[in-house]
Amino acid sequence: MIVPFHKPSIGKEEIDAVVDTLKSGWLSSGPKVKQFEEEFADAVASTYAIAVNSCTAALHLSLEAVGLKENQYVITTPLTFAATAEVIRYFKAHPIFVDVNEDGNINPDEIEIAIKKAQTKGKEVTTIMPVHFAGRPCDMSRILKIANYNGLHVIEDAAHAFPSSIGIRPIGSISDMTCFSFYATKTLSTGEGGMITTHNKEYAERVKRTRLHGVDRDIWNRYNSDKPKWFYLVEDVGFKYNMSDIAAAMGIQQLRKSYDFWDCRKRISEAYNRAFSDMPLILPTDGDLPRGSRHAWHLYVVKIDPMLTNIKRDEFIELMAKHGVGTSVHFIPLHLHPYWTRLYNFKHDDFPKALSFYEQCVSLPIYPGMGEYETYMVTDTVRKIFMGVLK
Ligand SMILES: *Cc1c(COP(=O)(O)O)cnc(C)c1O
Repeated sequence: MIVPFHKPSIGKEEIDAVVDTLKSGWLSSGPKVKQFEEEFADAVASTYAIAVNSCTAALHLSLEAVGLKENQYVITTPLTFAATAEVIRYFKAHPIFVDVNEDGNINPDEIEIAIKKAQTKGKEVTTIMPVHFAGRPCDMSRILKIANYNGLHVIEDAAHAFPSSIGIRPIGSISDMTCFSFYATKTLSTGEGGMITTHNKEYAERVKRTRLHGVDRDIWNRYNSDKPKWFYLVEDVGFKYNMSDIAAAMGIQQLRKSYDFWDCRKRISEAYNRAFSDMPLILPTDGDLPRGSRHAWHLYVVKIDPMLTNIKRDEFIELMAKHGVGTSVHFIPLHLHPYWTRLYNFKHDDFPKALSFYEQCVSLPIYPGMGEYETYMVTDTVRKIFMGVLK
Protein backbone atom coordinates (compact mmCIF):
# COMPACT_ATOMS: atom_id res chain seq x y z
CA MET A 1 0.00 0.00 0.00
CA ILE A 2 1.22 3.48 -0.85
CA VAL A 3 -1.34 4.98 1.54
CA PRO A 4 -2.44 2.42 4.15
CA PHE A 5 -5.86 2.84 5.74
CA HIS A 6 -4.28 3.70 9.07
CA LYS A 7 -0.86 4.38 10.57
CA PRO A 8 -0.39 5.02 14.30
CA SER A 9 1.12 8.40 15.22
CA ILE A 10 3.78 7.44 17.74
CA GLY A 11 6.80 9.69 18.27
CA LYS A 12 9.87 9.95 20.41
CA GLU A 13 7.80 11.41 23.28
CA GLU A 14 5.64 8.27 23.63
CA ILE A 15 8.66 5.97 23.31
CA ASP A 16 10.66 7.91 25.92
CA ALA A 17 7.68 8.02 28.29
CA VAL A 18 7.15 4.26 28.02
CA VAL A 19 10.87 3.60 28.56
CA ASP A 20 10.88 5.89 31.63
CA THR A 21 7.93 4.00 33.03
CA LEU A 22 9.63 0.66 32.40
CA LYS A 23 12.66 1.95 34.30
CA SER A 24 10.55 3.42 37.11
CA GLY A 25 9.68 0.04 38.57
CA TRP A 26 5.95 0.80 38.54
CA LEU A 27 4.28 -1.09 35.69
CA SER A 28 0.65 -1.59 36.67
CA SER A 29 -1.88 1.12 37.65
CA GLY A 30 0.08 3.81 39.48
CA PRO A 31 1.11 7.45 39.21
CA LYS A 32 0.89 7.58 35.41
CA VAL A 33 -2.70 6.30 35.39
CA LYS A 34 -3.63 8.89 38.01
CA GLN A 35 -2.00 11.68 36.00
CA PHE A 36 -3.60 10.52 32.74
CA GLU A 37 -7.03 10.43 34.41
CA GLU A 38 -6.64 13.95 35.77
CA GLU A 39 -5.46 15.38 32.47
CA PHE A 40 -8.14 13.57 30.49
CA ALA A 41 -10.91 14.73 32.83
CA ASP A 42 -9.61 18.26 32.30
CA ALA A 43 -9.54 17.86 28.52
CA VAL A 44 -13.22 16.85 28.32
CA ALA A 45 -14.43 19.08 31.20
CA SER A 46 -15.54 16.10 33.26
CA THR A 47 -15.48 15.83 37.05
CA TYR A 48 -14.13 12.26 37.06
CA ALA A 49 -12.20 10.14 34.58
CA ILE A 50 -11.54 6.47 35.30
CA ALA A 51 -9.01 4.64 33.12
CA VAL A 52 -9.62 1.05 32.04
CA ASN A 53 -8.01 -1.36 29.58
CA SER A 54 -10.57 -0.94 26.75
CA CYS A 55 -13.70 0.91 25.72
CA THR A 56 -15.50 -2.43 25.87
CA ALA A 57 -14.59 -2.61 29.57
CA ALA A 58 -15.71 1.01 29.99
CA LEU A 59 -19.11 0.24 28.47
CA HIS A 60 -19.45 -2.91 30.58
CA LEU A 61 -18.64 -1.13 33.86
CA SER A 62 -20.91 1.81 32.97
CA LEU A 63 -23.89 -0.48 32.41
CA GLU A 64 -23.03 -2.22 35.67
CA ALA A 65 -22.88 1.13 37.48
CA VAL A 66 -26.36 2.18 36.32
CA GLY A 67 -27.62 -1.21 37.48
CA LEU A 68 -28.62 -2.96 34.25
CA LYS A 69 -30.39 -6.25 35.01
CA GLU A 70 -31.39 -9.41 33.17
CA ASN A 71 -34.25 -8.94 30.68
CA GLN A 72 -34.09 -5.17 30.73
CA TYR A 73 -33.61 -3.22 27.48
CA VAL A 74 -31.03 -0.79 26.16
CA ILE A 75 -31.60 1.36 23.09
CA THR A 76 -28.68 1.57 20.70
CA THR A 77 -27.70 1.71 17.03
CA PRO A 78 -27.10 -1.23 14.68
CA LEU A 79 -24.45 0.82 12.80
CA THR A 80 -21.63 0.21 15.26
CA PHE A 81 -18.86 -2.10 16.32
CA ALA A 82 -19.61 -5.43 18.03
CA ALA A 83 -18.60 -4.11 21.47
CA THR A 84 -21.49 -1.63 21.83
CA ALA A 85 -24.21 -4.28 21.89
CA GLU A 86 -22.14 -7.19 23.15
CA VAL A 87 -21.77 -5.62 26.61
CA ILE A 88 -25.58 -5.53 26.98
CA ARG A 89 -25.63 -9.30 26.59
CA TYR A 90 -23.09 -9.66 29.45
CA PHE A 91 -26.11 -8.90 31.69
CA LYS A 92 -28.54 -11.15 29.76
CA ALA A 93 -30.27 -7.89 28.89
CA HIS A 94 -31.34 -6.98 25.36
CA PRO A 95 -30.48 -4.23 22.90
CA ILE A 96 -33.25 -2.53 20.98
CA PHE A 97 -31.67 -1.44 17.73
CA VAL A 98 -32.90 1.86 16.36
CA ASP A 99 -32.24 2.96 12.78
CA VAL A 100 -29.88 5.79 11.83
CA ASN A 101 -29.91 9.15 10.01
CA GLU A 102 -28.09 9.89 6.77
CA ASP A 103 -25.04 10.82 8.89
CA GLY A 104 -24.84 7.36 10.47
CA ASN A 105 -25.95 8.55 13.93
CA ILE A 106 -28.94 7.11 15.79
CA ASN A 107 -32.23 8.82 14.86
CA PRO A 108 -33.93 10.45 17.89
CA ASP A 109 -37.42 10.21 16.30
CA GLU A 110 -36.89 6.46 15.97
CA ILE A 111 -35.75 6.32 19.62
CA GLU A 112 -39.08 7.81 20.71
CA ILE A 113 -41.03 5.35 18.56
CA ALA A 114 -38.99 2.42 19.91
CA ILE A 115 -39.58 3.46 23.53
CA LYS A 116 -43.35 3.69 23.00
CA LYS A 117 -43.41 0.35 21.22
CA ALA A 118 -41.38 -1.30 23.99
CA GLN A 119 -43.63 0.17 26.69
CA THR A 120 -46.82 -1.15 25.07
CA LYS A 121 -45.22 -4.62 25.06
CA GLY A 122 -44.30 -4.26 28.75
CA LYS A 123 -40.56 -4.19 28.05
CA GLU A 124 -38.48 -2.31 30.60
CA VAL A 125 -36.17 0.12 28.81
CA THR A 126 -33.55 1.58 31.18
CA THR A 127 -30.80 3.13 29.07
CA ILE A 128 -29.96 4.82 25.77
CA MET A 129 -26.50 4.14 24.34
CA PRO A 130 -25.78 6.48 21.43
CA VAL A 131 -22.61 6.12 19.33
CA HIS A 132 -21.01 9.25 17.88
CA PHE A 133 -20.42 7.72 14.48
CA ALA A 134 -17.01 8.63 12.99
CA GLY A 135 -16.65 11.32 15.68
CA ARG A 136 -19.66 13.35 14.57
CA PRO A 137 -21.65 14.16 17.73
CA CYS A 138 -25.20 12.80 18.00
CA ASP A 139 -28.08 15.17 18.70
CA MET A 140 -27.52 14.93 22.45
CA SER A 141 -29.99 17.64 23.43
CA ARG A 142 -32.80 15.62 21.81
CA ILE A 143 -31.50 12.35 23.25
CA LEU A 144 -31.18 13.79 26.78
CA LYS A 145 -34.68 15.25 26.54
CA ILE A 146 -36.10 11.86 25.56
CA ALA A 147 -34.09 10.18 28.33
CA ASN A 148 -35.24 12.66 30.98
CA TYR A 149 -38.87 12.41 29.91
CA ASN A 150 -38.74 8.61 30.15
CA GLY A 151 -36.44 8.34 33.17
CA LEU A 152 -33.63 6.62 31.26
CA HIS A 153 -29.86 6.61 31.72
CA VAL A 154 -27.62 7.79 28.90
CA ILE A 155 -24.26 6.12 28.34
CA GLU A 156 -22.36 7.44 25.34
CA ASP A 157 -20.13 5.20 23.24
CA ALA A 158 -17.56 7.86 22.41
CA ALA A 159 -14.99 5.44 20.96
CA HIS A 160 -14.75 7.72 17.90
CA ALA A 161 -15.42 10.99 19.65
CA PHE A 162 -12.24 12.37 21.15
CA PRO A 163 -12.02 15.29 20.80
CA SER A 164 -15.63 16.07 19.78
CA SER A 165 -17.90 18.74 21.15
CA ILE A 166 -21.41 20.07 20.81
CA GLY A 167 -21.01 23.82 20.86
CA ILE A 168 -18.45 24.38 23.60
CA ARG A 169 -19.49 21.25 25.54
CA PRO A 170 -16.97 18.46 25.01
CA ILE A 171 -18.22 14.93 24.52
CA GLY A 172 -17.36 13.42 27.90
CA SER A 173 -19.04 16.19 29.90
CA ILE A 174 -22.64 15.77 28.76
CA SER A 175 -24.49 12.65 29.91
CA ASP A 176 -24.42 10.16 32.83
CA MET A 177 -21.33 8.35 31.62
CA THR A 178 -19.17 8.53 28.50
CA CYS A 179 -16.85 5.78 27.27
CA PHE A 180 -13.73 6.41 25.19
CA SER A 181 -11.44 3.99 23.35
CA PHE A 182 -7.66 4.19 23.08
CA TYR A 183 -7.42 1.17 20.78
CA ALA A 184 -4.58 1.14 18.22
CA THR A 185 -6.55 2.86 15.44
CA LYS A 186 -8.42 5.44 17.52
CA THR A 187 -7.67 9.20 17.64
CA LEU A 188 -5.71 8.83 20.89
CA SER A 189 -4.04 5.48 21.40
CA THR A 190 -2.44 3.59 24.24
CA GLY A 191 -2.28 0.37 22.22
CA GLU A 192 -5.27 -0.92 24.16
CA GLY A 193 -7.14 1.24 26.62
CA GLY A 194 -10.28 3.13 27.51
CA MET A 195 -11.73 5.79 29.79
CA ILE A 196 -15.02 6.45 31.55
CA THR A 197 -15.95 10.05 32.31
CA THR A 198 -18.79 11.15 34.57
CA HIS A 199 -19.87 13.99 36.88
CA ASN A 200 -21.57 11.48 39.18
CA LYS A 201 -19.52 10.64 42.29
CA GLU A 202 -21.42 7.43 43.01
CA TYR A 203 -20.81 6.07 39.49
CA ALA A 204 -17.16 7.12 39.65
CA GLU A 205 -16.58 5.33 42.95
CA ARG A 206 -18.42 2.25 41.75
CA VAL A 207 -16.38 1.85 38.54
CA LYS A 208 -13.13 2.53 40.42
CA ARG A 209 -13.93 -0.57 42.47
CA THR A 210 -15.38 -2.79 39.76
CA ARG A 211 -12.44 -2.21 37.40
CA LEU A 212 -10.15 -3.94 39.93
CA HIS A 213 -11.73 -6.99 41.57
CA GLY A 214 -14.18 -4.94 43.64
CA VAL A 215 -11.35 -3.96 45.97
CA ASP A 216 -11.91 -0.91 48.16
CA ARG A 217 -8.60 0.78 47.50
CA ASP A 218 -6.56 0.58 44.31
CA ILE A 219 -2.94 -0.42 44.55
CA TRP A 220 -1.63 3.11 44.20
CA ASN A 221 -3.84 4.36 47.04
CA ARG A 222 -2.68 1.48 49.18
CA TYR A 223 0.87 2.68 48.85
CA ASN A 224 -0.16 6.22 49.69
CA SER A 225 -2.29 5.93 52.79
CA ASP A 226 -1.75 5.47 56.49
CA LYS A 227 -3.28 1.97 56.54
CA PRO A 228 -0.78 -0.89 56.09
CA LYS A 229 0.16 -1.40 52.44
CA TRP A 230 -0.90 -5.05 52.47
CA PHE A 231 -4.44 -4.24 53.60
CA TYR A 232 -7.47 -4.23 51.28
CA LEU A 233 -11.07 -5.42 51.36
CA VAL A 234 -13.21 -6.90 48.59
CA GLU A 235 -16.46 -4.94 48.58
CA ASP A 236 -18.04 -6.34 45.41
CA VAL A 237 -17.54 -8.83 42.63
CA GLY A 238 -15.36 -6.88 40.23
CA PHE A 239 -13.41 -7.38 37.05
CA LYS A 240 -9.79 -7.08 35.91
CA TYR A 241 -10.08 -3.99 33.75
CA ASN A 242 -7.46 -1.59 35.15
CA MET A 243 -5.05 0.30 32.87
CA SER A 244 -1.28 -0.20 33.16
CA ASP A 245 1.11 2.69 33.80
CA ILE A 246 2.88 1.72 30.57
CA ALA A 247 -0.30 2.46 28.61
CA ALA A 248 -1.05 5.60 30.64
CA ALA A 249 2.47 6.98 30.03
CA MET A 250 1.76 6.71 26.32
CA GLY A 251 -1.71 8.23 26.78
CA ILE A 252 -0.36 11.32 28.55
CA GLN A 253 1.92 12.07 25.58
CA GLN A 254 -0.83 11.34 23.03
CA LEU A 255 -3.21 13.65 24.88
CA ARG A 256 -0.71 16.52 24.56
CA LYS A 257 -0.64 16.03 20.80
CA SER A 258 -4.33 15.35 20.36
CA TYR A 259 -5.34 18.84 19.21
CA ASP A 260 -2.54 18.93 16.63
CA PHE A 261 -3.66 15.48 15.50
CA TRP A 262 -7.21 16.80 15.23
CA ASP A 263 -6.03 19.79 13.13
CA CYS A 264 -4.39 17.36 10.70
CA ARG A 265 -7.50 15.22 10.35
CA LYS A 266 -9.74 18.25 10.01
CA ARG A 267 -7.51 19.59 7.23
CA ILE A 268 -7.58 16.23 5.43
CA SER A 269 -11.38 16.14 5.68
CA GLU A 270 -11.54 19.61 4.11
CA ALA A 271 -9.16 18.64 1.32
CA TYR A 272 -11.28 15.55 0.63
CA ASN A 273 -14.54 17.50 0.62
CA ARG A 274 -13.08 20.02 -1.87
CA ALA A 275 -11.67 17.34 -4.15
CA PHE A 276 -14.81 15.17 -4.08
CA SER A 277 -17.44 17.90 -4.52
CA ASP A 278 -18.10 16.99 -8.17
CA MET A 279 -17.90 13.21 -7.76
CA PRO A 280 -20.73 10.69 -7.36
CA LEU A 281 -20.20 10.63 -3.60
CA ILE A 282 -22.29 11.65 -0.63
CA LEU A 283 -19.84 13.48 1.62
CA PRO A 284 -19.66 13.72 5.42
CA THR A 285 -20.00 17.17 6.93
CA ASP A 286 -19.62 19.08 10.17
CA GLY A 287 -20.98 22.34 8.78
CA ASP A 288 -24.53 21.70 10.01
CA LEU A 289 -23.58 21.06 13.66
CA PRO A 290 -24.38 23.72 16.30
CA ARG A 291 -21.92 26.63 16.16
CA GLY A 292 -18.56 25.89 17.77
CA SER A 293 -19.06 22.11 17.60
CA ARG A 294 -16.23 19.73 16.83
CA HIS A 295 -16.37 16.60 14.69
CA ALA A 296 -13.41 14.43 15.77
CA TRP A 297 -12.94 13.12 12.21
CA HIS A 298 -11.85 9.74 13.54
CA LEU A 299 -13.25 8.37 10.29
CA TYR A 300 -13.93 9.96 6.93
CA VAL A 301 -16.82 7.94 5.52
CA VAL A 302 -18.20 8.63 2.04
CA LYS A 303 -21.18 6.94 0.42
CA ILE A 304 -21.07 6.03 -3.25
CA ASP A 305 -24.26 7.45 -4.75
CA PRO A 306 -25.85 4.63 -6.80
CA MET A 307 -27.99 7.20 -8.67
CA LEU A 308 -24.86 8.83 -10.11
CA THR A 309 -22.49 5.94 -10.89
CA ASN A 310 -22.52 2.27 -11.83
CA ILE A 311 -19.38 1.58 -9.84
CA LYS A 312 -20.28 -0.57 -6.87
CA ARG A 313 -18.77 -0.13 -3.42
CA ASP A 314 -16.94 -3.48 -3.38
CA GLU A 315 -15.47 -2.85 -6.84
CA PHE A 316 -14.38 0.63 -5.71
CA ILE A 317 -12.58 -0.83 -2.68
CA GLU A 318 -10.80 -3.38 -4.86
CA LEU A 319 -9.66 -0.73 -7.34
CA MET A 320 -8.42 1.52 -4.52
CA ALA A 321 -6.41 -1.37 -3.04
CA LYS A 322 -5.04 -2.36 -6.45
CA HIS A 323 -3.76 1.19 -6.92
CA GLY A 324 -2.21 1.46 -3.48
CA VAL A 325 -4.86 3.03 -1.24
CA GLY A 326 -6.18 1.19 1.83
CA THR A 327 -9.83 1.65 2.80
CA SER A 328 -12.27 0.08 5.22
CA VAL A 329 -16.02 -0.32 5.88
CA HIS A 330 -17.75 1.02 9.00
CA PHE A 331 -19.82 -0.88 9.83
CA ILE A 332 -21.49 -4.15 8.88
CA PRO A 333 -24.76 -3.49 10.79
CA LEU A 334 -25.05 -5.72 13.83
CA HIS A 335 -28.36 -7.28 12.75
CA LEU A 336 -26.57 -8.87 9.76
CA HIS A 337 -24.11 -10.74 12.01
CA PRO A 338 -25.14 -14.37 12.57
CA TYR A 339 -25.22 -14.11 16.37
CA TRP A 340 -27.73 -11.25 16.33
CA THR A 341 -29.70 -12.55 13.33
CA ARG A 342 -30.22 -15.86 15.13
CA LEU A 343 -30.96 -14.35 18.52
CA TYR A 344 -33.74 -12.01 17.37
CA ASN A 345 -34.71 -13.47 13.97
CA PHE A 346 -33.74 -10.26 12.21
CA LYS A 347 -34.57 -9.79 8.55
CA HIS A 348 -32.00 -8.33 6.17
CA ASP A 349 -33.91 -5.06 5.75
CA ASP A 350 -35.12 -4.55 9.34
CA PHE A 351 -33.00 -1.38 9.54
CA PRO A 352 -33.19 0.03 6.00
CA LYS A 353 -31.16 3.19 6.67
CA ALA A 354 -28.32 1.31 8.35
CA LEU A 355 -28.44 -1.27 5.55
CA SER A 356 -28.18 1.23 2.72
CA PHE A 357 -25.50 3.13 4.62
CA TYR A 358 -23.52 -0.10 4.88
CA GLU A 359 -24.00 -1.00 1.22
CA GLN A 360 -22.74 2.39 0.01
CA CYS A 361 -20.08 3.37 2.54
CA VAL A 362 -16.29 3.45 2.30
CA SER A 363 -13.90 4.82 4.92
CA LEU A 364 -10.88 6.60 3.44
CA PRO A 365 -7.50 7.04 5.16
CA ILE A 366 -7.45 9.96 7.63
CA TYR A 367 -4.58 10.14 10.12
CA PRO A 368 -2.01 12.76 11.14
CA GLY A 369 0.87 10.97 9.38
CA MET A 370 -0.73 11.72 5.99
CA GLY A 371 0.94 14.61 4.21
CA GLU A 372 -0.14 16.49 1.10
CA TYR A 373 1.30 13.77 -1.12
CA GLU A 374 -0.70 10.98 0.54
CA THR A 375 -3.87 13.07 0.54
CA TYR A 376 -3.40 13.82 -3.16
CA MET A 377 -2.75 10.12 -3.87
CA VAL A 378 -6.14 9.29 -2.35
CA THR A 379 -8.13 12.02 -4.12
CA ASP A 380 -6.39 11.38 -7.44
CA THR A 381 -7.05 7.64 -7.26
CA VAL A 382 -10.72 8.24 -6.43
CA ARG A 383 -11.04 10.71 -9.31
CA LYS A 384 -9.45 8.33 -11.81
CA ILE A 385 -11.67 5.46 -10.69
CA PHE A 386 -14.84 7.48 -11.35
CA MET A 387 -13.42 8.73 -14.66
CA GLY A 388 -13.00 5.10 -15.64
CA VAL A 389 -9.25 5.56 -16.16
CA LEU A 390 -8.22 2.96 -13.56
CA LYS A 391 -9.15 -0.64 -14.07
C1 LIG B 1 -13.38 0.62 18.79
C2 LIG B 1 -14.80 0.68 19.24
C3 LIG B 1 -15.22 0.15 20.47
C4 LIG B 1 -14.35 -0.73 21.31
O1 LIG B 1 -13.20 -0.16 21.75
P1 LIG B 1 -12.10 -1.07 22.48
O2 LIG B 1 -11.23 -0.07 23.17
O3 LIG B 1 -11.37 -1.81 21.39
O4 LIG B 1 -12.79 -1.97 23.42
C5 LIG B 1 -16.51 0.37 20.89
N1 LIG B 1 -17.38 1.06 20.13
C6 LIG B 1 -17.03 1.56 18.92
C7 LIG B 1 -18.04 2.33 18.14
C8 LIG B 1 -15.74 1.37 18.43
O5 LIG B 1 -15.40 1.83 17.21
